[in-house]
Order: sequence, then structure tokens, then C-alpha cells
Amino acid sequence: MIYLFGKLVEEPVDHPIIRPSINAIAETYDLAEREPELATVISPFTGARISRFLHICESAIDLVKQNKMQRKLGQNTGTCFQRCVGMDALNALYSTTYEMDEVYGTDYHQRLKKFIAMTHTYNYVIGGAMTDVKGDRSLAPHQQQDPDMFVHIVERREKGVYISGAKAHQTGCINSHWLMVMPTMRLGEKDKDYAIIGAIPVDAEGITYIYGRQSCDRRSMEGGSIDAGNANFGGQEAMVILEHVFIPWEYVFMDGEYDFASMLVERFTTYHRRSYVCKTGLGDVLIGAAASIAEYNGVERASHIKDKLVEMTHLNETIYATGIAASYQGYATKSGAYICDNMLANVCKHHVTKMPYEIGRLAQDLAGGLVVTMPSEQEFRHHKVGELLQKYLKGKAGIETEDRMRMLRLIENMTLGRNAVGYLTESMHGAGSPQAQRILIARSMQLAYKKRLARILAGIETTKNKEEIVEELSGYFARVFSLGQNENNHL
Ligand SMILES: Cc1cc2nc3c(=O)[nH]c(=O)nc-3n(C[C@H](O)[C@H](O)[C@H](O)COP(=O)(O)OP(=O)(O)OC[C@H]3O[C@@H](n4cnc5c(N)ncnc54)[C@H](O)[C@@H]3O)c2cc1C
Ligand code: SF4
Repeated sequence: MIYLFGKLVEEPVDHPIIRPSINAIAETYDLAEREPELATVISPFTGARISRFLHICESAIDLVKQNKMQRKLGQNTGTCFQRCVGMDALNALYSTTYEMDEVYGTDYHQRLKKFIAMTHTYNYVIGGAMTDVKGDRSLAPHQQQDPDMFVHIVERREKGVYISGAKAHQTGCINSHWLMVMPTMRLGEKDKDYAIIGAIPVDAEGITYIYGRQSCDRRSMEGGSIDAGNANFGGQEAMVILEHVFIPWEYVFMDGEYDFASMLVERFTTYHRRSYVCKTGLGDVLIGAAASIAEYNGVERASHIKDKLVEMTHLNETIYATGIAASYQGYATKSGAYICDNMLANVCKHHVTKMPYEIGRLAQDLAGGLVVTMPSEQEFRHHKVGELLQKYLKGKAGIETEDRMRMLRLIENMTLGRNAVGYLTESMHGAGSPQAQRILIARSMQLAYKKRLARILAGIETTKNKEEIVEELSGYFARVFSLGQNENNHL
């Protein structure tokens, strides 16, 4: 059941607000056809060619290729193409279930491998359902007044478990085939029933989807192709309400192992925070739009315009640099699956919480005020005022007035409209709000090691020799100075 504007949606494909989000996810399949090297791999499970979104990374280069595919899809759609949450969830689960089984003697990893093989057979889309609605953020799941504020097990039966609760902001959930439900935070012993990971078909009994509206979404219902800004592509988020939803054991990948929730969440966010390289593809579009509107306005040669475009590019590539570096600095987990560098992944995502806003500000600077005061497409097509607008909204000679309007609407779309969800606010909160990255950066910044380096050079500590410092390398700096990769590969 999908609700949107107080009505049940019979057929999402036909709904003008939902359709652009389906087009965006369809582009992930189209890119796979057009550029198989970039967007597909040969499945080690089935031997068939499958989407890269379903692949468990077997090398740092696999991680890098994910980023390159994400940038390309961002360029092609100008929005969130919705498949990376599932991709990153499968990868995080692969190593977490492996290590959970080592400790508890469970068989979650084998179950997961079967599930992944099945997704490869049908080339499925997987939605990653991590974020709970969370109620009072200062309280643990078991402390909430209403136990449903976090998804939890409500009943265990011979054949599986029943869960209830709600997941918020679920990207592409209606466009997915399966949802992977996971805990959203570190859990304690009293939260045992909240330690549930399981895969659910999107049309399972007991699920209700309440579609999230986006800024200016009704423009997609008005007809015409200018005012929507990017008429073809859009993102999608919905609230997923789970009422006594059944998960058979074969699709349960954690049941009560609360002490592994933090490993899962940290590994997922490590993958996902560098996945935000996707936003550099959107940044490429917005920089192109800003350069185009400057040209249409006849100011493209002004030095401050060129400088602003350089600044936008500098910011965009700064995001890309940290994301791609996180992938190149990836390493093998015990399971053999590769994971990216968590420090650089968090730095990447932290950039993303700021830099797209500045890029958007500069795009609006170059656009001029018309980006928010322009009349509608209906006036533009009007038999009487249409001609007046053609005359008075004209920019540089040789440029169609309509093209100028279209470019302004695209900038509006990405900085204030439907795709500002994907370009700006998703950049802020998706994969965790800014503070979540600062906590992880603080945890990995190895201040004791850095202080020791300083003490030695300042002549305060004289006993440490350089070899001992090298031997002490661990965590992030061990990865920075590692010249070889862990070859422990079980895939
Ligand atoms: C467009 C979009 C798409 C998304 N897609 C997905 C998806 O596909 N799957 C998924 O699982 N999630 C998804 N998310 C969810 C995303 O991970 C969350 O939005 C994010 O983790 C923040 O949670 P919140 O929205 O509940 O904000 P809140 O947790 O309410 O945060 C609001 C503010 O409160 C602060 N805060 C929160 N808790 C505490 C605390 N205990 N102590 C101090 N400060 C606190 C935060 O730092 C932040 O500044 C998406 C989000 C967006 C916006
Ligand atoms: S925000 Fe980016 S990384 Fe996340 S699903 Fe959308 S396109 Fe992928």
C-alpha cells in the first residue's frame, strides 16, 4: 500500500510525481547496457553479468569502480538514483555476518550468500532500511515510551520472526524489489529484540508506504516540461511502516546479536559515506548549468564568473578526491570483501554536508534573481503574454529565450526544488548528519600518535627512535603507510 496526497496509489509507474524517480533507477539498468565495464560485473555466485550495485567488492579497484559509476549516474540523472544504500548494505553485511558467525557459530553468512546469489539471478534492486523514526533521540530503543520507535522483533515462531516499527526517509523503497532491514545504532543487551537484520520483499503483508513529498513536487503534475526543471528525473523517499511483518529464517541475518549492531552500522556508513561521491555528478550538472546561464546572460568572460566556476569545480573535486581516495585505500575484511577507508569516507561525507551548499549558492549567484521570479511555463505559452515574455526574458542574441528559462529552472530544481532534496538536504543528513562524521573522525584521528611525533621533533621525547614509531602504526596511519594489501580473500 502506497499513500500519496491522502490517496492510495494504484500504479506507481503511472503517477507523475513517482515516475521521475523510476526513470532515475531505470538509468542504472540502462547504463549497465551502454557501459557494461563501468556498471556491471560477472557475479562470482552465478557466473552471469549483473549490476555492479549487487556486487560484493573483491578489491580496492571494485570500490573505486563503484564511485566512478556513481559519478556517471549523478551526471546522467542530476538526482539520487537510489541504488547505493542496498549496495553498501550488502557489502557491510557480508563481512559482519562472517565475523558474527565466527563468534556465535551461527549460519548468517551462508544465508546471506544464498540471498545475494538470488539477487544476482534476478538482477534485483535492494533498498537499505536502516534509519528508524527514533522518537526521543536521547533514549535507547528499549527506553522509548513507545517500543515501536525502533524496528523490533515482536514474535518468534518456528518458521521465522515477526517485526514491527517504522523506517524513515527510505530512498527508492517503492522502486526496490527487496528491503534490507537493519539496526540504526549501537545496541545494548536490553535492546536485544531490536537487533534484527532481515530481507523482506517490498510487497510483503503488513507494509505501508507513505510517500515523502518534495519541494515543488506538484510541478510534475502540471504538464509541460520547463517548470519541473528536470522533468525526467527525480529521487524518492518514503516512510515504511512495518506492522507485524514476517521474515522467514532463511532471510534473517541477525537475531539478537546486539553486540554486532555497531559493527554493521559502522561498516555500512563507511561504505555509504564515500558513496556520496554521487553528488559530484550532480555538481558537474550544476556547474554546467551555472556556466551556461552565464553564457546566456552574456557575462561568461567576466573574471569573477570564471573564478566562481573554478571555485565550484574546486569544491566538487575536493569531494571526489576524498571519496575516491577512501576507495583506493580500501582493504580486505576477514570475509574477503573489501571495505573502504573509514577516515577518508567520513571526511568525504563531511565535505558533502557543506560543499554542495556553497556550489548551490554560487550557481544562484550566477543565475540572477530570475531563478526565483520567473513566470510559469503557462504564461510563456500564453497567446497574449507569451510574446511579451519572449521579448523581455531574452538574454544574449542567438540564445533562445526558452533555453534561458530552461537553464534557470534546472538551477532552481537543484537548489530549491525537487532535486534540492537530493543535492542539498540528502547531502546533509543522508548516511548520517554532520556530527556523526565528526564523532568517527575524532575516534580515528590518533592524537596520541600525532602528539608523540610532535614531542620527538620538539626535543621533549628523545628516547623514541624512528623504527619504534613505525612499529606503532595502527588504524588509519597503518593504512596510509601500507604498501601492500591484505590478500585474505574468501569470496
Ligand atoms: C533524502 C534522504 C534520504 C535518505 N535515505 C535513507 C535510506 O535510504 N535509508 C536509510 O536507512 N536512511 C536514509 N536516510 C536517513 C538518514 O540516514 C538520516 O536522516 C540521518 O541519519 C539523520 O537522522 P534523522 O533524519 O532522524 O535526524 P535526527 O537524528 O533527528 O538529527 C537531527 C539533528 O539532531 C542531532 N542528533 C540526533 N540524535 C542526537 C543525539 N542523540 N544527541 C545529540 N544530537 C543528536 C543530529 O546530529 C542532527 O543535527 C535518508 C535521509 C535523507 C534526508
Ligand atoms: S544519495 Fe547518492 S549514494 Fe545515496 S542512494 Fe542516492 S545516489 Fe546513491
